[in-house]
Amino acid sequence: AAKDGGRNRYAFFAGSMDEQQRQEMEIYAMTENALAERRLILFYQPVVELHNGVIGVEALIRMEHPKRGILLPAAFASSLDHPRLARRIGCLVLDQALDQGAIWHRQGLTLRIAVNISARHLLDDAFLTDLQEALARYPDMPHEALEVEVTESAPMLDFRRARETLLACNQLGVRVALDDFGTGSASLTYLQKLPAQTIKVDQSFVRDIINDPRDFAIVAGVVTTARMLGLEVIAEGVETVEHAHLLTTLECHALQGYAIAKPMPASAFSGWLKDYKPLVKKDNDISPPFQ
Ligand code: C2E
Ligand code: MG
Ligand code: MG
Ligand code: MG
Repeated sequence: AAKDGGRNRYAFFAGSMDEQQRQEMEIYAMTENALAERRLILFYQPVVELHNGVIGVEALIRMEHPKRGILLPAAFASSLDHPRLARRIGCLVLDQALDQGAIWHRQGLTLRIAVNISARHLLDDAFLTDLQEALARYPDMPHEALEVEVTESAPMLDFRRARETLLACNQLGVRVALDDFGTGSASLTYLQKLPAQTIKVDQSFVRDIINDPRDFAIVAGVVTTARMLGLEVIAEGVETVEHAHLLTTLECHALQGYAIAKPMPASAFSGWLKDYKPLVKKDNDISPPFQ
């Protein structure tokens, strides 16, 4: 019935609005409600080093929907970069992630927390203040344990501003990761010119490394390039143990994906950590399938 009510409310505009605009309005309203009712929460997905343990987590936003259960960001993606929502969501995510990070640090878990920053928030005049104020609220969270993940969209919109803001993050001690690396049109330029400590190789390259020699070669090349630049590489979308083994032979620093763990609520994390055993043993000697 609520859904029908929504439809009627928007029926007035139906003539002047196309389907996409109508959907975006619905998503906007849904996200506003979720913000007001504190139903935007973070899940955490572990990032592991090959032979050792967990080095950190990526914070991933979720929406608790009263009828549809837990929604993925794809269900409200347009809100994440919306002019009136991006900063509010960004501040909430920073606050929740640092709060949780501080709790883990007090428990003796020296986890790195990676947070996704929308282009709109990164390029907002208020971003650095928002970041500093959030860090100041959680003195138990070392700045070095926070990593901001940015895609190519911010530097594409305003390269100078994005670069200066990321430099300022580094000056605060906060790490920078280039997310979804390789999917944009200027990856190498950004690698050359942006301050970053981590590259996250997009899952679209990682997925087929086992069957596709081209994808294997691309990932191998990114790992080599990153190592020569002194950067850390995280492979995203590691879905099987076979992927993990292959990435080990490529000397990729760290892995993230369903083979290790799916994103989970903070409350599930310590239980998961207790049972975690490294996927790849040190004496792994599997050779690459393509030479
Ligand atoms: P991302 O930053 O590249 O995050 C990785 C995505 O891959 C996550 O999807 C994660 O659940 C998914 N994933 C992890 N391992 C695997 C795997 O083995 N296989 C497959 N198929 N997928 C895997 P999720 O949580 O749905 O997030 C999607 C995107 O939404 C993120 O991509 C990020 O761009 C954005 N996002 C998530 N949280 C936030 C946030 O707090 N703020 C902003 N601005 N964007 C966010
Ligand atoms: Mg990310
Ligand atoms: Mg990514
Ligand atoms: Mg992505």
